[in-house]
Amino acid sequence: MKASQFTLATLRNTPSDADVISAQLMIKAGLIRKLASGLYVWMPMGLRVLKRVEKIVREEMERIDAQELLMPVVQPAELWQESGRWEDYGAELLRFKDRHNRDFVLGPTHEEVITDITRNQLNSYKQLPCTYYQIQTKFRDEIRPRFGVMRAREFTMKDAYSFHIDKDSLAQTYQDFYDAYERIFTRLGLDFRAVQADTGSIGGFASHEFHVLADSGEDDIAFSTESDYSANVELAEAVCITTRPAPSKPRTNVDTPNMPTCQEVAEYLGLDLTCTVKTLIVKGSHSDDAPDMPKLVALVLRGDHTLNELKAQKLPQVKAPLEMATEDEIKTAGLIKGYIGVDLAQYGMTVIVDKSASVMADFVSGANIANKHTTGMNWERDAVYTEVADIRNVVNGDPSPDGKGVLQIKRGIEVGHIFQLGNKYSHALGCTVLGKEGKPVTLMMGCYGIGVSRIIAASLEQNHDDKGCLWANTPDPADNIAPFYVAVVPMKSKDGNAEAKADELYKILKSKGVNVLLDDRDERAGVKFADLELIGIPHRIVVSERNLTDGKYEYAKRGSDDKALLELDELLAKF
Ligand code: ATP
Ligand code: MG
Repeated sequence: MKASQFTLATLRNTPSDADVISAQLMIKAGLIRKLASGLYVWMPMGLRVLKRVEKIVREEMERIDAQELLMPVVQPAELWQESGRWEDYGAELLRFKDRHNRDFVLGPTHEEVITDITRNQLNSYKQLPCTYYQIQTKFRDEIRPRFGVMRAREFTMKDAYSFHIDKDSLAQTYQDFYDAYERIFTRLGLDFRAVQADTGSIGGFASHEFHVLADSGEDDIAFSTESDYSANVELAEAVCITTRPAPSKPRTNVDTPNMPTCQEVAEYLGLDLTCTVKTLIVKGSHSDDAPDMPKLVALVLRGDHTLNELKAQKLPQVKAPLEMATEDEIKTAGLIKGYIGVDLAQYGMTVIVDKSASVMADFVSGANIANKHTTGMNWERDAVYTEVADIRNVVNGDPSPDGKGVLQIKRGIEVGHIFQLGNKYSHALGCTVLGKEGKPVTLMMGCYGIGVSRIIAASLEQNHDDKGCLWANTPDPADNIAPFYVAVVPMKSKDGNAEAKADELYKILKSKGVNVLLDDRDERAGVKFADLELIGIPHRIVVSERNLTDGKYEYAKRGSDDKALLELDELLAKF
């Protein structure tokens, strides 16, 4: 490609509305342009990168015998009504009507469509297992689109779905995908981790997320320092190995005027935050169908710990998704926000205590009296609880749940997610085949996503410098996802010799299949170099009159200050 004929949409200034480095770089380097919130145009430069990622993903899907198909972005509402997600999916699902007043959605994912296809196409266990994939545009009306293409509303996903006669077959294909994902992210040169993830309300059997480690990530991941244990913090079990000491202090109320937080109280009393507890009031699972369940539930945590909503909402007494009680509800229950204690028997409250809070002695809690806290509180002697449960987020230094080492927490960007779904969709949509005994069997199903467009941003979060993009080093250079692998830059020469030689070199490289850009623009060398560095083209060859007299070309690798003068053979041997 010749730069003079290519839309190089580079910018000198950093776009003010780009909130992370990868988004700034992708816009500055002319890879993308923002059209509206969460909607981006992939410029020619960016699309070259996207296609390179797609190629690697496609190769690894073919390797595990997944069949590529392509489903419509627009999907009829009926399928979503059949699965129940027309009601359950929430506002991320964009719904609209066509001219005949029929309801449709823009597909955020394709479980319904693929299950519909499968129930119509497959009829015997002999056709199983069966795996499909597509690389396609998804639409999710994200509440807060941000971080450029990392959390966009329209984005490219590789989504795959597998169908099985039983759990064992599902587990095998799941392992194939796990291995394929490891190969994909390794080939892309990413620093990533596979972590255990939550199987959520669907109640599937297993789930892993693949995270690219980066400080800008939206997820917290817990790793063991001693073993290969790793899990999303949402899921990681908080292990408590201490036992409760005996009470040694009397229960005493103290004045804590205008101090509704544990932090303020701890400072005021000159105590560590770990000596305090906080009580959160959440809505209970009481309903007409569950009249015996509580309307409100008190959750007690150590002052320095945070509530893990996912863990809490899995408790039968707690409403899912989790909702905090309103100020009115708290007042009506006879409690005072900011001063709620743990001795709640007289309020008829269900009290669930986090494991770590349950082993505390002589602690500080609210006094159930405005502007007062209680010191020297002790379980059993001063207060009773309904139940002990793990309801907090793990923190740095917690014991690893596998008993080996301690947990360390890092930020990650989720680039892939694999999930053993079980029969949720096949059951709802009646997706069966005839089994060995000649009777219909409801199929087991797995689903497997990769954020193809998100990968590019995630890769740049890990690979950049003050000059611009640095595309990740890949184990195989052919897998490098840079939009161009080599740039050839002629320096202006009086007789046009350098330009001619550069053109010649460009043609040779092109004929060898090298992904090369000839920067033949009528620009100063400094401008060209800055652009090529911003775009992050890994290799640069400068062709100048002066070096040509010695038969040499100046070679530089992006990210290194070293330059080498090479003869043509040496240069070509590099690519
Ligand atoms: P997240 O927790 O980040 O919202 P998700 O659980 O909704 O992700 P999945 O439904 O598992 O994501 O989608 C598969 C993959 O698609 C994700 O692992 C992620 O890489 C990508 N993805 C999801 N939402 C977006 C988005 N808004 N923009 C870009 N990529 C996305
Ligand atoms: Mg999401």
